[in-house]
Amino acid sequence: MPELPEVETLRRELNRAVVGKTIKSAESNWYKTVKPLTISEFQKKIKNKKILNVNRRSKVLIVDLSGPLSLAIHLKMTGQLIYRPKSGKSVIGGHPQKGGLENLPNKFTHLILNFTDGSNLYFNDLRKFGWARLINDTGVAEIAEAHGPEPLTKEFTLQYFKLILQKYPNRKIKQVLLDQKLIGGIGNIYADESCFCARIMPTRIIKSLTVAEIKKLYQCVDRVIKFAIQKKGTSADTYVQLDGKPGGMVPYLKVYGREGEKCKGCAGIVSKIKLNGRGTHFCRFCQK
Ligand SMILES: [Zn+2]
Repeated sequence: MPELPEVETLRRELNRAVVGKTIKSAESNWYKTVKPLTISEFQKKIKNKKILNVNRRSKVLIVDLSGPLSLAIHLKMTGQLIYRPKSGKSVIGGHPQKGGLENLPNKFTHLILNFTDGSNLYFNDLRKFGWARLINDTGVAEIAEAHGPEPLTKEFTLQYFKLILQKYPNRKIKQVLLDQKLIGGIGNIYADESCFCARIMPTRIIKSLTVAEIKKLYQCVDRVIKFAIQKKGTSADTYVQLDGKPGGMVPYLKVYGREGEKCKGCAGIVSKIKLNGRGTHFCRFCQK
């Protein structure tokens, strides 16, 4: 699933592509994509709306439309957005699908926004877990409230980080990093990378962490996320940039997706275990 850096990259690129465009019509063949509205209600409500801005909260894109509604889009595991202008280069983001650009819409296309200038935005989703919901300000606030402060924001302070760790002394550190209600936007990739950066095992019980380790981990979370945004994210899972290129973060990953390979910090080999059902990568020599 795309994490904060990947969705932020998509947000920036979509912002360049679609802001100012007016939606002439919408098409959908899968009612769950636009739930809780019916497809015809969705079509009626989104018609003639202009795209004012593309925002993001954690992993959710929030497209600000003219009028009282916003369009919230979650790509989940296999969602893909493709913007195709009437002429010129298409842009593509999310889960890569073969031949996706030649045959649009295809059997994985579950929502199309047709713009008045003849361009289109396609939402493809192989496993159909993704969604695009029309929500009002209350809905936008609910999405915001469901997620804790995000790395790189002024709300995500060392003080806050210490506070949430104190609340769950018996949890493993990675569990807290992944808990979206506590910290918004960190997923499996950047939890593992942050723990490596801080030289802390993702399995460490929180009450065993020293003050210095907590501070280091806090700094590492911000540093890792910031760097990943600069590199336009990772394609290690199912994610590519809007223009179809894999995320530039891949060569810089230290442990994620590198099990069995040589550690970049020592002569050891990167390990992978399951932690609460999630593949977890670390170096047993570099991390304590
Ligand atoms: Zn190592």
